[in-house]
Amino acid sequence: TLDFHPAGRHFLQIPGPSPVPDRILRAMSYPTIDHRGPEFGALGLQVLSGIKKIFKTQHPVVIYPASGTGAWEAALSNTLSPGDTVLMYETGHFATLWKKMAEKLDLKPEFLGLPGIEGWRRGVDAARIEARLRADTAHTIKAVCVVHNETSTGVTSNIAAVRQAIDAAGHPALLLVDTISGLASADYRHDEWGVDVTVSGSQKGLMLPPGISFNAISPKAIEASQTAKLPRSFWDWSEIVEMNKTGYWPYTPNTNLLYGLAESIEMILGEGLDNVFARHQRLAEACRRAVRAWGLEIQCADPTVYSPVLTGVMTPEGIDADAVRKTIYDRFDMSLGTGLGKLKGRMFRIGHLGDCNDLTLMATLSGCEMGLKIARVPLAASGVVAAMDYLGSNAAKPNLKA
Ligand code: PLP
Repeated sequence: TLDFHPAGRHFLQIPGPSPVPDRILRAMSYPTIDHRGPEFGALGLQVLSGIKKIFKTQHPVVIYPASGTGAWEAALSNTLSPGDTVLMYETGHFATLWKKMAEKLDLKPEFLGLPGIEGWRRGVDAARIEARLRADTAHTIKAVCVVHNETSTGVTSNIAAVRQAIDAAGHPALLLVDTISGLASADYRHDEWGVDVTVSGSQKGLMLPPGISFNAISPKAIEASQTAKLPRSFWDWSEIVEMNKTGYWPYTPNTNLLYGLAESIEMILGEGLDNVFARHQRLAEACRRAVRAWGLEIQCADPTVYSPVLTGVMTPEGIDADAVRKTIYDRFDMSLGTGLGKLKGRMFRIGHLGDCNDLTLMATLSGCEMGLKIARVPLAASGVVAAMDYLGSNAAKPNLKA
């Protein structure tokens, strides 16, 4: 470890936590106020109404002072009962962790997917969900749970297709979706896609530090919560939703993170959600062009579900991706995402989400290219040049608001 602070800023290019803009850091530095006082109620109402626009919902969004894992538990424990069968889909490490949580909570998860790492290169296959639901004529499956943006692989599944599959099967199961790393980076529509519970977190597209997480809930989910029997107390929606009507919480909320959230919502809606999504798509395309130019493989094998949030880069056989990451960290003060679960040592992940622009990405790719060369990974051509060519000749076109 260094005994002095390295010059310049650290490049935090993991797929969350993502860099927190100065504007948000400043907003969070205001004094903590009385969470039962009048000023707080106004802030509470402001963030609770603003966040609905990001989820694209007219219905309540619950904000927990917890990481995303807590909001996962809240989604399950508010809607389900011990022994309930839930249909989950193995897209990667986070889908696997959510399934393990379901087991611990005394649910019976069925895990659809492909063997080995094949399923970790693709999105959710809605046709398989439909077939399984059609076979469940007794309606023992109570919920379908899928990860929208699988952060461990860089795959963004088609949630509208999952909704259509449930409807086509005429099945009453709830639809629970994790978009912890997708929200405010990838297009997401809670109401339009008929999602019953959407789970998200603060430390990705919202550009906040870790520490708050969300459940967006449909009327059908609220109805299910009235008969769901899994034990819950801290996570229980009913009292929170009731107190949120006046901008307060039943316990001490994460005041300073809520200042940050108010600022984040203003920044995102100021840029315009469609512009935010287009910016992410453009940076992701530039990143993929770099990976292809290097002659390396992109973890996501299906171009229709490439993630706008991050790109998984597979290292050639015999090259430890974590050793490459360590070289880049030590030499260039940049953090990249590690390979998780089945992909340990096989790939690294480049985050291009949140407060990221053309030059942030170019610096990131430069660090990767130099590090890959130092680690003696044979490269076909310069990825930096390929990405520059793309970004330089494709100007971002903001949709200016009226
Ligand atoms: N689900 C997804 C898709 C994630 O990316 C993460 C965290 O990276 C989690 C769940 C877990 O969230 P947390 O680490 O905030 O508890």
